Order: sequence, then C-alpha cells, then structure tokens
Amino acid sequence: MSETFVVAVDGPAGSGKSSVSKATARRLGWAYLDTGAAYRALSWYALERGVDLTDSAAVIDALPDFDYRIGTDPETYHVFVGDHDVTEVIRTPEVTAAVSAIARVAEVRVFLTELFRHIIRTVDRDGIVVEGRDITTVVCPDAPVRILLTADEAVRMARRSAELADHSAAHVGEALRRRDAADARVVDFMNAADGVTTVDSTDLDFDQTVDAVIQVVQKAAHV
Ligand code: C5P
Repeated sequence: MSETFVVAVDGPAGSGKSSVSKATARRLGWAYLDTGAAYRALSWYALERGVDLTDSAAVIDALPDFDYRIGTDPETYHVFVGDHDVTEVIRTPEVTAAVSAIARVAEVRVFLTELFRHIIRTVDRDGIVVEGRDITTVVCPDAPVRILLTADEAVRMARRSAELADHSAAHVGEALRRRDAADARVVDFMNAADGVTTVDSTDLDFDQTVDAVIQVVQKAAHV
C-alpha cells in the first residue's frame, strides 16, 4: 500500500483553517483531521472529571483514561470521548477558554501527537489534510505539502464573530486575542517555518482560499 499523502495546515484562530481544510479534503476525496478537537475534547473531559486544568500533574493523570475517537471523513465529522458525542460541546466558550491551559503541558502534546500520527498512518484514503497549530513543525514536519494559513487579525475577529452570532464582537475579539497569545507561547504558528508555504486569506473569500490551498497541493501532488 502506498503511503498516505499528507497536507499539513497550521494557522491562528479564525484563519478559517478548519473549514478550509475540510473543504479541501472534500474536494480531493481525501480524509480530514482536526487536531484542535483532541485538545478541546481533553479539556472537556478534564473539566467533567473536576480536574484543575492549571495542575499539570492532574491533567497528565487523566491521560490514560482519555478514550478519544474522531472521524476522518469530512462528510461525517464526529468526535467522541467514551460514549459521549462531544462534537458540539467542545465548541462552547467554556471549553474554548480552558483549552490553552491543557495545550501548554508538554506530556499532553507528546501524547496527542502520537495519537494523531496513529490516525494518519491508519487512514484508508490516498491523502489526508491535517490542521492545527504545530502540524507543519512537530506532528508532520516531513509532509510533502505544508501550509500556514493566515489572515489579518481584524479579518479573523470579524469571521469568528460572525460564527458566534450570539456573542458580542468585542468579547469574541478579546477571547481570540487572549487564546492566540497563550498558544503562541507554546508553538509558533504565526510565522512560516522553513519550506512552509503561506496562504494569506485576508483578501480572499472562502472559495478563493480553498482554491489557493488546492493549487499548492496540486503543484506537489499532481492530483
Ligand atoms: O483549532 P482549534 O481552535 O480548535 O484549537 C483549539 C486549541 O487547541 C488551540 O487554541 C490550541 O490551544 C490547541 N491546539 C494545539 N495544537 C494543535 C491544535 C490545537 O495546541 N495542533
């Protein structure tokens, strides 16, 4: 069996990387892996168990029982922890506000990186689009296509506010800025590493951004 073609996509919150990556996978008939969902699901799980998220040792203790499953078919995307379908609940502001604390624990990152690599190895499609914060640098540094998806901060905030219509724009903007600042202390996803192609979506609409990403993939993969 030939190896799965990996497209690694990193970027800050609100850059559109989840929806763009999913649409790219759909158009190519490939798999899609949202790595942020695992960090979110672990945060949800730890909150459910009453773990103090600032206590790294307690978070690490919770890892062996974290029974995580995620679909990689972009058409039927679902996230489970044990028997719980957490697809929706991991997007709540409570989980979103908690996730950076979990993401800075080195043991958590090693654990989840292994899990992602296992999912990528066992996927049954020709290719997979994997998106997150450290995919181009840590999870899949040897991927044949590595992309940093960026957009100006004002544009990212406006997009996120539109997604979360019931929250005030100022509140959304502040939460996004705080999360990016916390996450950027752990991994650099604002600057493209060597060999990583930057796709700036500031002046592109959604379809144009997907087209730009597909062009980068086509150049490398001849698909
Ligand atoms: O991409 P998303 O916003 O769902 O990611 C949620 C959080 O998971 C991020 O704010 C970050 O703390 C963490 N994350 C990470 N590394 C990844 C993906 C996500 O640290 N590869």
